[in-house]
Amino acid sequence: MAKKTALITGASRGIGAAISLRLAEEGMNCVLVAREQAALQTLANKLSEKGCEVLTISCDVTDEHAVNGMVKQAVEHFGRIDVLVNCAGRGGGGITQNLSTDLWRDVINTNLNSMFYVTHAVLNHGKMSAGSNIINIASTGGKQGVIHGAPYSASKHGMVGFTKALGLELARNGSGITVNAVCPGFVETDMAKQVRTNYARLWQVDEAEAKRCIEERVPIGRYIEPDEVAAMVAYLTSPLAKGVTAQALNVCGGLGNY
Ligand code: NAP
Repeated sequence: MAKKTALITGASRGIGAAISLRLAEEGMNCVLVAREQAALQTLANKLSEKGCEVLTISCDVTDEHAVNGMVKQAVEHFGRIDVLVNCAGRGGGGITQNLSTDLWRDVINTNLNSMFYVTHAVLNHGKMSAGSNIINIASTGGKQGVIHGAPYSASKHGMVGFTKALGLELARNGSGITVNAVCPGFVETDMAKQVRTNYARLWQVDEAEAKRCIEERVPIGRYIEPDEVAAMVAYLTSPLAKGVTAQALNVCGGLGNY
């Protein structure tokens, strides 16, 4: 059987890097996308050692024109895209009254608009077929409000809504393409460190205390590892998950149970 090709945005570090590694271990070719080429290349070397054919593309996913070029380049190289993982994202919030509109726009562009640009380009040029999968890395913050995280929470709710609508559309038209969101809770990555720094400032505590308070909120009492999110993504790309579509699935240690 021909190898599948996965395109992962936000692949340069954190959850996206863990997903790329896992899908390579599942035997897929990988297109790694982010802005920082050096970090993509480091990951690509690691994946190549596992026998994965890798293409790295430096692309700002908020730039629709660049995204179209990136997807066309990936399809020219591998022939088609079987699995799309929209993982690129950023945090962003604060006291809403004091937010700048620039911050609002950048969070919405990076998390929500980018997902539409990449998905739209893949649906038009990616030659997806029955058995293909679109997976959007949203957040538990896409299902409930995050205090002092209005732009982030709004962007992630948007991702969940888009996933549910497109999942139904692609089920009803008989495409055989599944569309799901994965909603992590607190995952130990660079973004999590940034979130801790912000909460420490807002709560007027040090970062160790902010970490303790966050872990206390999680019923299993700890941060989720990026590998644990990657395992859900791998499941969603497996033949046994053909019946799972238009869903938003939490990997959050019980932080949310909805
Ligand atoms: P991270 O370590 O900060 O990584 C973010 C990734 O997105 C990087 O690869 C970054 O690469 C890429 N990226 C950001 N802006 C981009 C842009 N404009 N164009 C292209 N790539 C861009 O974050 P993470 O924790 O792994 O988060 C990954 C995803 O999971 C995000 O969507 C996040 O919202 C979601 N999530 C995270 C958590 C958590 O607790 N960590 C919880 C729930 C959901 P470059 O900087 O090289 O471009």
